Amino acid sequence: MNDPLFRVLRVALEVPLRRFFDYLPVPEAPLDQQQPGCRVLVPFGRRTLVGVIVAVSPQSDIAPASLRPAQSLLDSAPILAPHLLQLCAWAADYYQHAPGEVYLQALPTALRQPKPIPTNQVQAWQIQPDFAVDSLPKQAYRQKELAEFLLQQARPVPESEIREEGFSKAQILKLASLGALEEVTMEAPPAPVSASLEPALELNPAQQSCLDVLQEVSDRHQGLLLYGVTGSGKTEVYLHWIAHLLQSGRQVLVLIPEISLTPQTLARFERRFGPIVAAYHSGLTELERLRSWERARKGEARIIIGTRSSVFMSFQALGAIIVDEEHDASFKQQDGFRYSARDLALVRGKLENLPVLLGSATPSLESLHNVELGKYKLLRLENRAGAAQKARINLLDIKSRPLQAGLSQPLIEQIQQHLDRREQVLLFINRRGYAPVLMCHDCGWIAECRHCDARLTLHKRAPQLRCHHCEASAHIPPHCPQCGGPALRPIGTGTERTEDELQRLFPNYPVHRVDSDTTRSKRRFAAMLDHIHEGEPCLLVGTQILAKGHHFPKVTLVAVINADSGLFSSDFRATERMLQTLVQVAGRAGRADAPGTVVIQTHHGDHPLMQSLTQDDYLEIAHQLLQERELAQLPPYHCLTLIQAEAPYQDQAMAWLTGCKREAEAISARSNNLDIRLSGPMPAIMEKRAGRYRAQLHLSAPNRAPLRALLSQLLLWADGQRLPNGLRWSVDVDPIDFL
Ligand code: ADP
Ligand code: ZN
Ligand code: ZN
Repeated sequence: MNDPLFRVLRVALEVPLRRFFDYLPVPEAPLDQQQPGCRVLVPFGRRTLVGVIVAVSPQSDIAPASLRPAQSLLDSAPILAPHLLQLCAWAADYYQHAPGEVYLQALPTALRQPKPIPTNQVQAWQIQPDFAVDSLPKQAYRQKELAEFLLQQARPVPESEIREEGFSKAQILKLASLGALEEVTMEAPPAPVSASLEPALELNPAQQSCLDVLQEVSDRHQGLLLYGVTGSGKTEVYLHWIAHLLQSGRQVLVLIPEISLTPQTLARFERRFGPIVAAYHSGLTELERLRSWERARKGEARIIIGTRSSVFMSFQALGAIIVDEEHDASFKQQDGFRYSARDLALVRGKLENLPVLLGSATPSLESLHNVELGKYKLLRLENRAGAAQKARINLLDIKSRPLQAGLSQPLIEQIQQHLDRREQVLLFINRRGYAPVLMCHDCGWIAECRHCDARLTLHKRAPQLRCHHCEASAHIPPHCPQCGGPALRPIGTGTERTEDELQRLFPNYPVHRVDSDTTRSKRRFAAMLDHIHEGEPCLLVGTQILAKGHHFPKVTLVAVINADSGLFSSDFRATERMLQTLVQVAGRAGRADAPGTVVIQTHHGDHPLMQSLTQDDYLEIAHQLLQERELAQLPPYHCLTLIQAEAPYQDQAMAWLTGCKREAEAISARSNNLDIRLSGPMPAIMEKRAGRYRAQLHLSAPNRAPLRALLSQLLLWADGQRLPNGLRWSVDVDPIDFL
């Protein structure tokens, strides 16, 4: 024990326990190579796991005789730099998550598995040439589509290509498990030679003054919020700033919300900067992700465009982080390790002394609050770049007006006028499928999900009833299962139904439906976008996807079919989200020679929020919402944490949380920590989901420190409790979703 050379490796392992694990060093490897940030292979129970060394210590709480040696050292030099280890430590502590899972998810999956890493090879799949598609179950639409796609190709198809068609790994594996597919490896195809680069645009004065500020803070930590209306040229500012940072040999990380955005954004960056750009998102295969990760770490890629998890990537010389569309909910992970990539970007910026730029046309209330507190500098672009003008927003009161698939007569007339002028029209509707409800007109029966507190959505293109909250689907019954009558009726409107109605009303114009059902295949979606960009008059109908990042310069009328859903929700973020979506959708309209019009159909035209929308001053409305949050003691003024539980029976989840609450009260009393408000336990807004009952306990406090102190004691207690069978619980710090 007193051996001065005695060393213990403290290792992070991907297991759901709030602790590290001690091992003796690998006997065969030099001790000075076994450093924090290196991976080791270790025995864990009967398994062998990949772990990351987080510290090398002269002592252990465990008797040396009981320590087992690590099996082998996988890296001869750290692959996670000290800054990243710090970021992981910070994140595990802040989000109160099992640290091993946090450290390991900072590595691409390929580096987390105890198996060798293939190098210049890609995974590919080949289908049995005589595979009978009809042997698949009738409901397995996607399986069938996948099989048909592969049969058509009649060659081993790289997994990345299959993914680009919109199929998931799970779907591939399912088909493989039926013996239909065979996995093969192929040499990676050579990287495409990039065309000549596109020159930068000359910045307008407003953009230039943003760039001036950015250049000034390029060498130190500073949070910045770029508020720029849609089309104001935010991206162009990013591109100029990046060019500046590249000149001094630095790399830049650009975080973007979703895969659906990646192709366009990536293409734009590639046109400007060529092959030094790399992507990192879940649409890539394991090996592609590994390759991007390696290129960033070695400094071959200078610009990384990535989704949420790229905030943990390793760089050789990171110079700045940009978070585009910073308000987007997809920056928050909603399960497992529930972190916010936007918030961690700022923490990382602080740790590495880097500027962090958040950009949005509809900044989150959190970020605006940070501007108010003086934590972020605010940059503004209030006008559109180029020649396009901002659209006018009009409310259309639909109280007691008849609607055809959601469309009112005045709206139909306006659509006709725009089409007559050979312009394009975009209709936004926040539901996909044909109708959100299938009901029996005779007895009132409604098709409901057996596993969730939710109705089944009627889909007609792939005819079935589907639950949008779990995987469940069902046949459309030929008659009412309750009374046997024939009067089953679709109630309400989804994208498919509006599409049908538009087709009927305007038979001479193409209708493009854009929702997650039609955009899964990137290739087909790209073709649809190309078609729209040709500029012929047409109708677009779609969901949120339409509000995300796409420019439709030929659209002159944007209509929101129903804007009311966010007004009366029990989720306190619903109004903020509704406002952001409406402003983003409205931003799709308008061009130089024909300023756009936005029509919002609502039953609540006199609601203050609806009224202020017509003023079209996002910051002003956001400040009103901030005041409401302050009065209600809600985030961002109060810190909020949820403890969630789910179980096969509701009373189990509630009973468990009641125990947590009692313990939390005892801890606050003991530590005289009386600022913490506990509310609940209460059933979640959707009480039953995927067959499990869910409940939550809310903990909030004006300051974070006492809340964290209480939480860590509470979790220590909770970790030591025996749980009823099937009960799972989790902690969500700074939650954004209450469903
Ligand atoms: P945002 O990211 O704010 O939506 P973009 O950078 O995509 O804005 O710019 C919107 C449109 O305006 C694009 O078509 C872009 O090419 C054009 N644009 C941006 N900046 C300029 C500029 N300085 N001069 C001319 N056109 C510009
Ligand atoms: Zn009936
Ligand atoms: Zn369901």
